[in-house]
Amino acid sequence: MASERQINVGGVLIGGGAPVAVQTMTKTETADLEATLGQIARVAEAGADLVRVAVPREKDAEALKTIVRQSPIPVIADIHFNYTLALKALDAGAHCVRLNPGNIGGPEKVAQVVARAKELGTPLRIGVNSGSLPAHLRELEFTDPVQALVAAALGFVELMESLDFTNFKVSMKSTSVPNTIASNRLLSQRIPYPLHLGITEAGTKWSGSLKSAVGLGTLLADGIGDTIRISLSTFHAEEEVKVAWEILKALKLRQRGPVLIACPTCGRLQFDMDTVVAEIERRLEAYEDPIEVSVLGCAVNGIGEARHADFGITGAKDMGMIYSRGEPLKKVPTERLVDELFHEIDRYYAAGKKVVRDEADAAAARQWLAENEDTSAMTPERMAALEAQAADAESAQASENGMLPAAPLDEDLSPVSGRRFTRA
Ligand code: SF4
Repeated sequence: MASERQINVGGVLIGGGAPVAVQTMTKTETADLEATLGQIARVAEAGADLVRVAVPREKDAEALKTIVRQSPIPVIADIHFNYTLALKALDAGAHCVRLNPGNIGGPEKVAQVVARAKELGTPLRIGVNSGSLPAHLRELEFTDPVQALVAAALGFVELMESLDFTNFKVSMKSTSVPNTIASNRLLSQRIPYPLHLGITEAGTKWSGSLKSAVGLGTLLADGIGDTIRISLSTFHAEEEVKVAWEILKALKLRQRGPVLIACPTCGRLQFDMDTVVAEIERRLEAYEDPIEVSVLGCAVNGIGEARHADFGITGAKDMGMIYSRGEPLKKVPTERLVDELFHEIDRYYAAGKKVVRDEADAAAARQWLAENEDTSAMTPERMAALEAQAADAESAQASENGMLPAAPLDEDLSPVSGRRFTRA
């Protein structure tokens, strides 16, 4: 479950039931203030709650002073090997310092960093990576990498506690998705401290996003993890932030911006839906409200699964339809579908979040829908609906037989983890 303890990173609460915080890391040379602050502004705009910057050189520690002052979100300094840089980062005002106690030069040096962090009230992140485990665990790493990771993390936690320091979060990263899942599951049962989740060196935007969604999504669905970072091989850190948000939104752990729903398309499709969906996704980035927008490739299902969407379109060869919350609004030529959709969305906001309906247009759209809907066609959506109905009936029957507890879902809780549902 979410960690018992909570830390405060520059005003962002981590753990103890706080919303899962999104963080990323800049890819610029930290001392290049213009580039670094520019990238921080972009990741903040994309929704990062926290940003980490690498501090491998003296000039980066020096630059931190300005970065901390000018950054719109709290800044975490990432330190390896050099404990004096950790001290300088703390003095520069970093809101948190990440270090690997195993590579910082021994327990005495860790103690000096901890003493300074304590004086300043600054939290630390202590991180363990599968690639840099302490020497005494290297053999175990070959036979049982999960236990090796957990043992290393527990060793560092004990070191912190022996220094009477508890203002920290812990990360345990591996390039292996199963090892990340297994080790974090074990560690979450052993320590009360917040957990930072990530798959290290996850890969390109495509493969890295999927690995992260599987690994982090599995843990988050179990209620494990208090802050996440998606590591992607891209110079655009904001891409990592977008992926992190999609994972949190998919699990209904947090909400930010519109939700776009689109059918997978099939042989019934008669227009260029790929382009239309991409265009809608791009234009929706300008909206902050969590409205739901649906795109259906054809009208054969009627409005079907998209009945709950705030706005949606369903297309056909020459003509399509715009609808809102299960009711047709108007029919429009296919090439004008996207513009008219956004016209309706903007009218909704201009009217104080009220759907504006023209009855004559709506009647024409209903007529079009009636002509195009085919209630007898076995579409992917109808098959899925039938399967869901069968599953519901089965679980209701099992519940009646006393095999399953009937658990009504509280709308304010994530159905997967039971966490409190929060808005950005
Ligand atoms: S039948 Fe379903 S999947 Fe196929 S195009 Fe129509 S809405 Fe999309």
